Amino acid sequence: MGIVADRGDIVDGLPLPRFDGGWVWLVGAGPGDPGLVTLNGLAGLRQADVVVYDALVDDRVLDLARPGAEMIFAGKRGGRPSPTQRSISLRLIDLARSGKRVLRLKGGDPFVFGRGGEEALALVDAGIPFRIVPGVTAGIGGLAYAGIPATHRDSNSAVTFITGHSVTGDIPDNLDWDALAKGAPVIILYMAVKHMPEIARRLLEGGRDPQEPMAFVSNAATDKQTVVECTLGTAEDAAKQVKPPAIVAIGPVVSLRAGLDWLGAMKGERTLNPDPLGLGREDAV
Ligand code: SAH
Repeated sequence: MGIVADRGDIVDGLPLPRFDGGWVWLVGAGPGDPGLVTLNGLAGLRQADVVVYDALVDDRVLDLARPGAEMIFAGKRGGRPSPTQRSISLRLIDLARSGKRVLRLKGGDPFVFGRGGEEALALVDAGIPFRIVPGVTAGIGGLAYAGIPATHRDSNSAVTFITGHSVTGDIPDNLDWDALAKGAPVIILYMAVKHMPEIARRLLEGGRDPQEPMAFVSNAATDKQTVVECTLGTAEDAAKQVKPPAIVAIGPVVSLRAGLDWLGAMKGERTLNPDPLGLGREDAV
């Protein structure tokens, strides 16, 4: 592994890493917009012999791959079951053993609810060298495309990421929802549309305010981005209008969207409010 002195053409002469044969790179594709792929991710895509990609990867990111690279889909399609995790890991190992530069491309960040750790451990076990290329996760970058910051000094000094979907397909039962309701000022949920009624119920039972602002951002940072705003109390109904994949934010930061929906403002859909939390201009600055 080295610096690409001889491949400085990849991105404006930057000394990006060289992709050697027999290696696997686990790369985060970000939520959609290809501009959110990191430079190391782009360098990997430009050098890879084979790209093994998931369902959530935007086509515009796939288009960044080197022309001629073999593209292998490893997600769920047309209702057919997705390949098992084990078979994907074995495939990566086989491809790497054949001397190829194997790029495993995952939506968002590979280490955030993306099973990147599992695949990397399988590579370790097989003695395959690998690199991790982090990506912009939907729970931060996707929300940013809806004008929702994950943290804001006036409202929350912590943020909690939760998956709404465990290995069994149910909501995770190893979480203390009461404690989360009381102790997590902003909650960001992945894979949570299906189980939203149950999740909202548990948070409300834990003492959460039904008036609390909430948003579902579907297909964030893609051409199909849509946002449904509601409150925790109306989450169950709102979830019915939401098309997955969606990222969910619960908490006061959602109100900031009225001031920070830069994408909506860019499209002329709304005028931004400079004081979305109603603090008065001076405090807001
Ligand atoms: N590794 C990914 C998460 C994979 S889990 C990441 O870091 O973003 C899949 C879930 O991610 C989806 O169910 C959805 O909740 C969220 N997600 C991924 N891409 C998204 C997008 N473009 N818009 C909205 N949600 C997205």
